[in-house]
Amino acid sequence: DLTMPQYLDKSAKDFPERAAIVFAETQYSFRKLAGLVNQCAGALNALGVKKGDRVAIMSPNCPQYILGFLATLKLGAVVVQVNPMYVERELEYILKDSGAQTIIAYDALYRRIKNVRSRVALQNVLVFTLGKGSVAIDSNALQIEELLPQYPTQFQQVPLDMDEDIAVFQYTGGTTGVSKGAMLTHRNLTANTLQVTEWMETMKYGKDKVLCALPFFHSYGMTGCLNFSIINAATMIIMAQFNIKECMELIKHEKPTIFPGVPTMYIAVNNYPNAQGYGIKSIKSCMSGSAPLPMEVVEQFEKLTEGLLVEGYGLSEASPVTHCNPLLERRKVGSIGIPLPDTDCKIVDLETGLRELPPGEIGELCIKGPQVMKGYWNMPEETANTLKNEWLYTGDIAKMDEEGYCYIVDRKKDIIIAGGYNIYPREIEEVLYEHPKIREAVAVGVPDPYRGETVKAFIVLKEGMQADAKEIIHYCRANLARYKVPQYVEFRNALPQNVMGKVLRRILREEESQKI
Ligand code: ATP
Repeated sequence: DLTMPQYLDKSAKDFPERAAIVFAETQYSFRKLAGLVNQCAGALNALGVKKGDRVAIMSPNCPQYILGFLATLKLGAVVVQVNPMYVERELEYILKDSGAQTIIAYDALYRRIKNVRSRVALQNVLVFTLGKGSVAIDSNALQIEELLPQYPTQFQQVPLDMDEDIAVFQYTGGTTGVSKGAMLTHRNLTANTLQVTEWMETMKYGKDKVLCALPFFHSYGMTGCLNFSIINAATMIIMAQFNIKECMELIKHEKPTIFPGVPTMYIAVNNYPNAQGYGIKSIKSCMSGSAPLPMEVVEQFEKLTEGLLVEGYGLSEASPVTHCNPLLERRKVGSIGIPLPDTDCKIVDLETGLRELPPGEIGELCIKGPQVMKGYWNMPEETANTLKNEWLYTGDIAKMDEEGYCYIVDRKKDIIIAGGYNIYPREIEEVLYEHPKIREAVAVGVPDPYRGETVKAFIVLKEGMQADAKEIIHYCRANLARYKVPQYVEFRNALPQNVMGKVLRRILREEESQKI
């Protein structure tokens, strides 16, 4: 029963001199990292941060993120993960909702914090620089670099109840509706990290290097990159944020073995000129999540790297991973795989949510396991709608086959209803992805005076390719029932995406409804 900071101490004991962090010019051994986390815990403690208090962290990936994260957990305080791209309105919401009294932030974001400060409960503002020319900070904020050396490199973790005490408020992405704070316990964090570890059969304690391209502030990067590396004494090769050029350079120079990511990252690698020239064969295993992983992407990526790329699935409310295709056993195309160890799943009918459906039938995916959140912070009604008898209702529509492999059909909220037919955009997108000229595609429902909604496809073509709407529609007609065929096709250079590479359908839908 170890917490994340205790796992760090264990890794530091077993592999004191092994590199824990590689970030630009910075490199810390596990021993050094454990000491810095303790100094940071000492500093926060001296500022009055106690068990149960909320500490917001707002920063791109960097070593200081990890210090703040683990130090907060060591004090029994709650990490509030804040997307560094949040503007003042969003930041104010999350600070108010969580009641955070302390924030740790990258100094370039200081102005935003200053501007909302009078309206929120912040008492301590701690900032750090990332060496790209520091930002003017006034006397209302403390510099972490100056604070840490004043505290000892030892710090005793406060007593915690793994199952009851909250470690993290993981705010949901907000791709739909208002952002809710999923309360993740210390058990949730370690359980999910250990589940992923068990699944990652190629991994060896103290031997691997993880390319940290996913943001730590999202549950997927938190578990798949940060916590995974801490528990497995793996070296974190940190990217502040994903950028394909830097990613390729890091692969070439740092030789990561594990690369957790989202489909757009693998697509970018596949399309990178002369990717073979970047020593890409160091990559042994990759888990893709967050959005559907097209088959062509897997084939190309595996050919390029000679490593393994499998699709998994998760959501913030489950810390996040619940399903994955086995790395070495049988995997199935288009499937999110089977539940992780100690995880149960079932498909229930969409109307009542009470009746469990047999294999092959489509319904809502429900999950039970040690990684499932305790509830939403301050939202008892939302919690009751989402957690029923320990089952997490995911809001995703899925089916299961006879062997227990699950397939996401779509999100409940994304279904297009056209002339009384339910259309799952994902099915149309899969067809589009098979078109040789198409690089990315998304289908959304747009208002239609006759059918209520009709299908519109947004397409990004592969480099150097040309196509017109007629050709795409013609192709869809050959592969889809008439009512599913997009009525409109628009070509774009890029699709609006969130940091997880998820297409923001909401933005496309809003743009369309404004046209009317
Ligand atoms: P919000 O819940 O606020 O709308 P979000 O979608 O960004 O925001 P996350 O918890 O980040 O919330 O994402 C979880 C969702 O991502 C899942 O519910 C599912 O719809 C989608 N997802 C994850 N993995 C896959 C996958 N392999 N295939 C398809 N969809 C996936």
